Amino acid sequence: MPVATRGMMRGVSHDRLRPMGTEMILSNAFHLFVRPGVESVQKLGGIHGMTAWDGPILTDSGGFQVFSMSDICKLHEDGVKVENPIRGGWIDWTPKMAFEVQASLRPDVSMVLDHCPAKPSERNEVAPAVERTLRWAKEQRDLHNARGGADSGQALFGIVQGGIFDDLRSECATGLREMDFDGYAIGGVSVGEAHAEMMTAVEASAAHLPENKVRYLMGVGTPIDLVESVARGVDLFDCVFPTRTGRFGTALTHNGRLHLLNAGFREDTNPIEPGCACPSCLSKVPRGAIRAGFQSKEINSSMLVAVHNLFFILQLMQRIRASIAEGSFEELRADIARVYRPRST
Ligand SMILES: [Zn+2]
Repeated sequence: MPVATRGMMRGVSHDRLRPMGTEMILSNAFHLFVRPGVESVQKLGGIHGMTAWDGPILTDSGGFQVFSMSDICKLHEDGVKVENPIRGGWIDWTPKMAFEVQASLRPDVSMVLDHCPAKPSERNEVAPAVERTLRWAKEQRDLHNARGGADSGQALFGIVQGGIFDDLRSECATGLREMDFDGYAIGGVSVGEAHAEMMTAVEASAAHLPENKVRYLMGVGTPIDLVESVARGVDLFDCVFPTRTGRFGTALTHNGRLHLLNAGFREDTNPIEPGCACPSCLSKVPRGAIRAGFQSKEINSSMLVAVHNLFFILQLMQRIRASIAEGSFEELRADIARVYRPRST
């Protein structure tokens, strides 16, 4: 899922999404609640009207974002108080509120509010976060069922927390599974841990989730993380990684990352990746021109690379699906591991 946090893509125009192979996009309920506000989104036609996207949309509850602003949020047992970054004052972001805001925004998939602890390796922080996450999840599952469950036209996914601890991941996943959600997400990863630790957490979570429901890994999107998570049973991803790295001048290619600001590209007449079928490469704008554009802060350079990177990631997901169907996934996995080596710290 390409990410339109506030209903707007960054660095990629919305008309590019469909031709690039996008199937589903993601927005953030908390950010939309803050600006432009639920009523305004409703007047724009709900989240589908606002994003002009008629395919499936998932909204995140904003748990991760709220807790990542720990200097302006106060956790309590029934939710989290967070300073309103636009209007001032405090917002009491509770499970009920996260649920109701998403019911009003009308995405196809909504997410529970969970407690994503800042430090996934501190057991005395992670254990109570799992307890809270399960308690809040049940509250929201009950609200969801009272509204007709998935028949209401909106699915609700639970989120597995548990940091780097296998037993806590297992406890959280099993608890959520018993509540019978429409799908399941793995949260609290990609918060600065090493690749191997992330994969251990993914494995410990996915192993306890039902095989016949969607498994979604939140906020993860480098090529190696995608391939290795698919190998562990994950189906769905979102990440700002391809567009963000693109906006800063790094292109993802079949031969690895290309830092287009390097002096070696000054007079390079090739497109970002020769042979690539993305709109940026088809336009034949040379690497040298894109580099010069970055140096003079031209927005178009950022957009060209963001589009290429998003196309690369969407293509990678298509290649993964095809390779699974053809029985050649392990070859693709080895290819990606060779070119995109996992970070060790
Ligand atoms: Zn391209």
